Amino acid sequence: MTTIERERHRVIGEARLLAGLDQDLQQHLLTHGPLPELTREDYVQLCEAVGLRGRGGAAFPVAVKLQDLPARGVEAVVVNGSESEPASRKDRLLLTRAPHLVLDGAVGLAHALRAPHVLIAVHDTAAATSLREALMERDDQLAIEVRDTPGRFVAGEARAVLSALEGGTAVPPGRRVLPTRRGYHRRPTFLSNVETFAQLAVLARLGSRGFSSTGLISEPGTQLLTIDGAVQRPGVIETPTGVPLNTVLQYAGAEPGPVLLGGYHGRWLPRTDGVMLQRPEVSAGIILALGSGTCPLGEVTRVAEWLRSQSAGQCGPCVFGLASLVDDFARLTIGDPQGWHDAHRHLGLVPGRGACAHPDGVARFLTSALEVFDDDVQLHLSGQGCGRPVLGVLGGAR
Ligand code: SF4
Repeated sequence: MTTIERERHRVIGEARLLAGLDQDLQQHLLTHGPLPELTREDYVQLCEAVGLRGRGGAAFPVAVKLQDLPARGVEAVVVNGSESEPASRKDRLLLTRAPHLVLDGAVGLAHALRAPHVLIAVHDTAAATSLREALMERDDQLAIEVRDTPGRFVAGEARAVLSALEGGTAVPPGRRVLPTRRGYHRRPTFLSNVETFAQLAVLARLGSRGFSSTGLISEPGTQLLTIDGAVQRPGVIETPTGVPLNTVLQYAGAEPGPVLLGGYHGRWLPRTDGVMLQRPEVSAGIILALGSGTCPLGEVTRVAEWLRSQSAGQCGPCVFGLASLVDDFARLTIGDPQGWHDAHRHLGLVPGRGACAHPDGVARFLTSALEVFDDDVQLHLSGQGCGRPVLGVLGGAR
C-alpha cells in the first residue's frame, strides 16, 4: 500500500473498526473473516436490533433509511467520504488505513439492495489513492467508482454530494428531498457516511448479539471520535458507545476548560461531568477542548467568520444572517452592548430558513457559546475584555 501520513489513533476497550489497519485484502480477511452474503431484510433486522444510526452528523436510524427504499430499482449505494467538518479525521483514517472494511460495508449492502453502482465521494488525494489501490485487489462484481468532490463545508451535505457526483455544483439544491426517494440521477439511493459502512461490515460479521457485547444497550457497539484543540494527544479514538466524556478527555490529555461537542455545528457544554458520548448529541464524533489560555469569544468569532465563508450563497437568511452574526459577535468582543442585543435577535431569525442545515448548525454553535461563555461576555461588555489572546485553538477554521 502507498505510504501516507499516519493519523494518530487509540482504542479504549475493544478495537473493531481500528483492528487490522494498513492491511492488504488477505490480511484484512484474516483479521475480520469473510463477509457473509446477507439479504436486504437481514440488514434491516440487524440495524434495527442494534439501533444503528448514521455516523455522519444527523444520526438517522439506518434501518429506517433502508426501509424507505423501494423494493426494486435502487440505483446506487453512495459512501459520503467528504468529511467536510474541518476538525473531523475519523473518516479519513478509515479510508486511508482500513479501506477494505469500508468497501465491505458498501459492497455487501449494494448486493443486498441489488444496486448496480457503488460511488465513493472523497475530497482527499490520500483517501482516493488508498481506495483505488484496495479496489485493485478485489473483484466485487459491481461498478465501483471513487470520485473526487470539493472540500467545502456544505459540499459534504448529502444532496450536495449527489449533485457533485452527477457533475453539478456541490451545493444543496433548494428543495429538501430524501436520497432514498430521489437520489443519484433522481433514482432511489442509499447514502451514508464512511463510518456507517465500516460499522455495517462489522455488524454483518458479528451479528446483533456479537455486535452488542460492548457499548450502550440502546445503541451498542463502538464509535470513532476525533479529539483536538487544547489536548496533548489529538487524534482518533475508538471507544464503546456511551463512554464518559471525561474518560476520553483524560485519555487525550485535555487541558481543563470548556468543550465543544459535535464540531462546528455542535454545542458548547456547560460542564463535562456526567456527559456520556452517545448519538445524537455526539453527532459526527468531534470533541474540541478549548483550554483556559485563549479568549473564548475571539475563538468563536473566528470560527463564525469561517462558517459564514462556507455558505453556498444561495439562501438569503443564510448569506445575510450569518454575515450579520459575524458582525454582531465582532462588536460584542470589543464591548459593544448593541452587538450582544443584535446577536440574540439574529440568532432567533436564522434557524429553519435555509435550504440546508448550515444556518441552523451555526446558530446552535453560537447560541450555546453565548450561554456557556456568559462570564466572558460580561467581561467584554464591561470594556475590560477577558485579557487573553486569541490563540486559534479551534483548528481547521482557516
Ligand atoms: S442554507 Fe446556506 S449553505 Fe445551505 S444551501 Fe442555503 S445558502 Fe447554501
